[in-house]
Amino acid sequence: MADVRIIENLRAVRQKIERCCDRSARRIEDVELVCVTKEATVNKIEEVLNLGIKVLGENRVNEACEKYRYIGDRASWHLVGHLQTNKVKDAVKIFSLIHSVDSVRLAKKISEEAGKLGKVQDILVEVNTSGEETKFGISPEETPNFINEIVLYPNIILKGLMTIAPETDDPQKARPFFRILRQLRDEINRVRDTQYTIHILSMGMSGDFEVAIEEGSNMVRVGRAIFGAYSKKNYA
Ligand SMILES: *Cc1c(COP(=O)(O)O)cnc(C)c1O
Repeated sequence: MADVRIIENLRAVRQKIERCCDRSARRIEDVELVCVTKEATVNKIEEVLNLGIKVLGENRVNEACEKYRYIGDRASWHLVGHLQTNKVKDAVKIFSLIHSVDSVRLAKKISEEAGKLGKVQDILVEVNTSGEETKFGISPEETPNFINEIVLYPNIILKGLMTIAPETDDPQKARPFFRILRQLRDEINRVRDTQYTIHILSMGMSGDFEVAIEEGSNMVRVGRAIFGAYSKKNYA
């Protein structure tokens, strides 16, 4: 039985994305919805696939691999959470995009493991736009140099930047951090040679994706607004 809440939630999210695109003169096809399934069971994932979801976001490699055994390549898999080097080998097997590259060591390891599979791994650099100490990511100031270092690794391709705004009950408060990420991307593209033009801005979650789209996001990562608040009973 399809979960009516999921159907309605997803419809509402898509409608918001659409309206936001209208308002900010963006095309709906230009904003990718990554459905964050980190707390969702395989059954719930099946439901969103039936509703046309094409991209799943997970934040733990082990859990994603477990779900991948059932879902396989019926969706693309994105790693949105932090990646430890000892999980890279498994991560490159299933993820089409890794959003959370935040150290040279990690980039090097991803390139090595992808190389062993004969794969070139798409990645994003995670930027800590808020400077919050609890957050992973490279500071905006260090990001251009960081990128210069990691693009030398042969089996990764840098596609863009990702950020997580501070948690707040007022989405407007997230706006400056999204703006920082967009400006950083534009600045990086301005000074780099075009071979390395980066496009993706992965920003915006359940609480703030509309503001993120207004600020130029072209990839939103939405979990709770689709599946309901995280609590085990919602995912039984
Ligand atoms: C959980 C998570 C999301 C989704 O958050 P929601 O608030 O449930 O939409 C997005 N990005 C990352 C990195 C996450 O860990």
